[in-house]
Amino acid sequence: MSMRHILITGSTSGIGWGLARGFAKQGYSVTLNGIADAPTVEKLQSELRSEFKVKTSYSSADMRRPSEIRDMVVKAEAELGPIDVLINNAGIQHVAPVDEFPEEKWDAILAINLSSCFHTIHAVLPSMKRRGTGRIINIASVHGLVASPFKSAYVAAKHGVLGLTKSVALELAETAITCNAICPGYVRTPLVEGQIDQQAAAHGTTRDKVIRDVILAAQPKKEFIEVEHLAELALFLASPSAKAMTGSILTMDGGWTAR
Ligand code: NAD
Repeated sequence: MSMRHILITGSTSGIGWGLARGFAKQGYSVTLNGIADAPTVEKLQSELRSEFKVKTSYSSADMRRPSEIRDMVVKAEAELGPIDVLINNAGIQHVAPVDEFPEEKWDAILAINLSSCFHTIHAVLPSMKRRGTGRIINIASVHGLVASPFKSAYVAAKHGVLGLTKSVALELAETAITCNAICPGYVRTPLVEGQIDQQAAAHGTTRDKVIRDVILAAQPKKEFIEVEHLAELALFLASPSAKAMTGSILTMDGGWTAR
């Protein structure tokens, strides 16, 4: 396989970390990004290096800041070579009625969950175009396709990610660079654990009840999606066999969007 360097935004935790492990297992050098303290970053990098014998790099770039995103791409390519696969994964959540939604949370969610995808693509494409190859995978959400109440910013951002995915795919259709999106249902990560805690406190009930009656209520299979399976799907999109797939919106959602 000629594709060897992957940059994953928001990969110090949850889905991004699962993707990092999945690609490292297949021999990819990995550039990690996310908010984490130095010992955590060192632990994550040494885990990938010792378990999978791959090279790693890390950028602390804040996905709200375009200049840091540009610098992240320059640093990653200087340290591990051209970026063959970009996965836009960084994301945050905030749940509140739209009329009470804090303005700064709206701005942060739009910046991290949507605009950062534009800025990373903007920064990696010149090198992908020069080499005539590349894979861009955007981690959207079922909330890119359907809405839930109290998640206006998240739903707006994720719908935007799908629009961006399709537009970029069309622009690059006559090249060997593809751009696709994955829409997971609920995955048990720190982002979702936070929502479970918040709901349990708000309703004065147990975490188990929240998981059953609130979190998994819309997910017909009633099981969380596993990060390892998302990594397998992303690996397929990065493989030569997926060269004809571009602008695709792939769900892994336990049947959520079949309703
Ligand atoms: P998580 O909270 O476990 O991880 C989020 C990652 O993003 C972390 O590495 C964090 O450090 C990073 N991050 C947050 N703010 C950042 C910033 N300003 N700059 C750089 N990095 C930042 O969350 P997760 O559940 O793994 O979510 C990852 C992605 O998957 C998100 O885009 C989320 O919307 C999407 N998603 C999650 C689920 C789910 O059920 N967990 C479902 C569908 C989609």
